Amino acid sequence: MDVEKVFHMTGGIGKTSYAQNSAFQKKASDMVKHITLETIQELYYEVTPKSLGIADLGCSSGPHSLSLIKDMVEAVEGTSHKIFHPMPEFRVYLNDLPTNDFNSVFKSLPDFYKDLKKDRNQEGPAIFIAGYPGSFYGRLFPCNCLHFIYSSYSLHWLSKVPPALYDEHGKSINKGNVYISESSPPSVSQAYYKQFQEDFSLFLKSRSEELVTGGRMVLILLGRIGQDHVDRGNSFFWEILSRSLAISVSQAEIEKEKVDSYEVHFFAASRNELEDEVRREGSFEIDKLEMFEIEREVKNGESYGTAVAMTVRAVQESMLCDHFGDGIDLDTLFNNYGKMIDEEMVEGDVKPITFVIVLKKL
Ligand code: SAH
Repeated sequence: MDVEKVFHMTGGIGKTSYAQNSAFQKKASDMVKHITLETIQELYYEVTPKSLGIADLGCSSGPHSLSLIKDMVEAVEGTSHKIFHPMPEFRVYLNDLPTNDFNSVFKSLPDFYKDLKKDRNQEGPAIFIAGYPGSFYGRLFPCNCLHFIYSSYSLHWLSKVPPALYDEHGKSINKGNVYISESSPPSVSQAYYKQFQEDFSLFLKSRSEELVTGGRMVLILLGRIGQDHVDRGNSFFWEILSRSLAISVSQAEIEKEKVDSYEVHFFAASRNELEDEVRREGSFEIDKLEMFEIEREVKNGESYGTAVAMTVRAVQESMLCDHFGDGIDLDTLFNNYGKMIDEEMVEGDVKPITFVIVLKKL
């Protein structure tokens, strides 16, 4: 499956859209917003460019991206006043895969510009926003044109399903599972780890050419606490998807072979694995690397399981539909998913682990 052509968060603003089902991601990036804003202020203070280049990689189509851009503009404005420096102009590049719903982002731009002007007597900052479709696993921007890169909840997505998960006949070596699970052979976690290493180092190398010296990156991504791949953090959410797909097989809605060959292009790295790759690649120094957990809030009357199911649906729907075709009943699948999460919560918490990592270009 060609991830670049298929993968996208569910667009628009409907009930199953990413925009409506990403409160968890928003809460997480809000929790570390002080780190993002301090980092851009530090960078601006050190470099004071006239034209500040900012990229958001994996911006998606929810309201998160633009609201944070507004905060960044205000943070830089504060610093520029403090050091008696004229405000820079802002070049803002919104990146995501080509199938992302960029239209819905663009449609919200007029209100965004109006909002920026409102608090400033109609004299808004000079800000130029562009969409940059393409994979961040490779070059996206011209040399040295960026000062600050932000990426939230995107880098745990790999460039592809690791090819080593399939044998010479094209059969999966991870049958019945969609990610690393208790019953997966060790070669499965090795295949995922190798793909992560290749991808993350290509990401770092590509960004190092685009960022000026001293430029910063703030990366927020899912990860895992220890060396063990199977935990009640992130791998658990895929375990529940495998179990939900098994129910659909037992009800003859989808074929077992189809489920056997479905794998997610996701990897939850550990702190050591992230640090090792940054060190090996060599273009960046680690300023900060922190781990945090988030309590999920649920909407009125909705169960915790339903909220999780809706989020996983918004991020997986494009891939599931492409793989299973029209035959798959996503309402039933994610109904079962939500119920299972609620049952599991009785056994103990299921909490995703997130890392925030701040890198400085050497
Ligand atoms: N930053 C947003 C969206 C996160 S969802 C937020 O915090 O809410 C993850 C996004 O990363 C998706 O929109 C997905 O399409 C994008 N993405 C995944 N792999 C990508 C790649 N290789 N290149 C660019 N974008 C990618």
